Amino acid sequence: MKQSRKAADKLNTREFAGLVERQLRMIGEDPARDGLRKTPERVAKAFAELTCGYAQNPRAVVNGALFKVKSDEMVIVRDIDFYSLCEHHLLPFFGKCHIGYLPKEHVIGLSKLPRLVDLYARRLQVQERLTTQIAQTVLALTGAQGVGVVIEAQHLCMQMRGVEKQSSIALTSSMLGIFRDDSRTRSEFLSLVRTKQMCA
Ligand code: ZN
Repeated sequence: MKQSRKAADKLNTREFAGLVERQLRMIGEDPARDGLRKTPERVAKAFAELTCGYAQNPRAVVNGALFKVKSDEMVIVRDIDFYSLCEHHLLPFFGKCHIGYLPKEHVIGLSKLPRLVDLYARRLQVQERLTTQIAQTVLALTGAQGVGVVIEAQHLCMQMRGVEKQSSIALTSSMLGIFRDDSRTRSEFLSLVRTKQMCA
């Protein structure tokens, strides 16, 4: 079983590498020159890693790390670094994700939150959807009273090309449950995650 999956991976890597080699030719490069000889295979492997989130399942990632609690104090993990690829240009966007939730009966292992961020970041994304998917998943897994997620990110497709707004940062948020309905809860969360300048 393991072996056949390995074989399939190899096949995909080879096919993907073939496409990259064609791309190199199309931009006028010589894929046979020294520096590029192994590039198609390297790109194929890098893409497999950068999109490994498709093969992951949130419940499997959390792996039972849900704990019964009596507390209903807000839990916040901020400044979670993430790297993703924009689905419009296949160029990176990256930044910080802040997650807060108000537990009802369960808290989730703190180290699982960055792993859930990675699970969705390592797919082709738009920042808005990434934000919503993380919030909805935390809500579904914990049964919390509410969840808030804020993402601040730089998009290389904006910075390297076109408008070239070098220092602009895109901010998105998703507020669910009590974070949406109660302005005091939302304000508390936002004031706790409000950062100085990101990437200063
Ligand atoms: Zn883009």
